Amino acid sequence: MERELLPDHERQYDDDYWESRTYAPSAFLMYLGVEGDVDPLAHHTLVLPENWDPHFDEIFERPAWPDDPAYYLCVPSQTDDSVAPDGHSNLFVLVPLAPGLPDTEPVRERYREKILDDVAENTGVDLRERIVVEERFCVSEFADRYNATEGTALGLAHTLRQTSLLRPSIRSSAVDGLYFTGSFTTPGIGVPMCLISGEHAANALIEDREGPATP
Ligand SMILES: Cc1cc2nc3c(=O)[nH]c(=O)nc-3n(C[C@H](O)[C@H](O)[C@H](O)COP(=O)(O)OP(=O)(O)OC[C@H]3O[C@@H](n4cnc5c(N)ncnc54)[C@H](O)[C@@H]3O)c2cc1C
Repeated sequence: MERELLPDHERQYDDDYWESRTYAPSAFLMYLGVEGDVDPLAHHTLVLPENWDPHFDEIFERPAWPDDPAYYLCVPSQTDDSVAPDGHSNLFVLVPLAPGLPDTEPVRERYREKILDDVAENTGVDLRERIVVEERFCVSEFADRYNATEGTALGLAHTLRQTSLLRPSIRSSAVDGLYFTGSFTTPGIGVPMCLISGEHAANALIEDREGPATP
């Protein structure tokens, strides 16, 4: 984020630093509004191949679009009537991907077909002819809309060398009074961690203005 907002001399880390980091996975997401119900899909469904090792390799070892993906299907309309019009269902599909993967339109289109086939084959729910609303979100959107390096969906990976004090700090070392929060700083990735990060940033700001809190 600081790369988007600050001139080079006001950044605490240069481009080499950010380019040498390890990023958490990105994702291919399809948001679908469909006619009719999608029974027997529940609110949460995980579709797992019998051998999921290749997909892990394709995320972490040799980045590629997975041939036989493990993915998450979420159907909020199964538990909340307000999220889809009467007679319709709303769902999204999330396929974890390596960050930085090329996601051109032909690749996404091919993958859409693959996932719709896979959902039909593995869950018995054929969505294709019933889709009335469709949005896709992938590596490029994470990069362009959220300024997420390499289009990561999650932030800076939790590797040993990117843990605790080895993650970028909340206080900017380059600009007085500038604080960072969220999944690229401490303590890490995910909503609970990012809420804690916000609290730490607020506390750092208060402490810098008013001194350490007295017990
Ligand atoms: C599909 C998906 C599912 C997830 N599921 C879970 C889950 O089940 N549980 C969990 O714990 N975590 C989950 N996460 C991770 C979690 O959502 C993130 O780790 C967390 O939201 C990151 O918070 P953040 O504040 O760092 O960034 P964000 O929530 O991304 O907020 C950053 C904000 O900064 C804005 N911004 C970017 N650039 C600029 C700019 N130049 N000027 C102004 N504003 C800018 C963006 O628009 C955005 O609103 C999921 C993430 C994704 C993508």
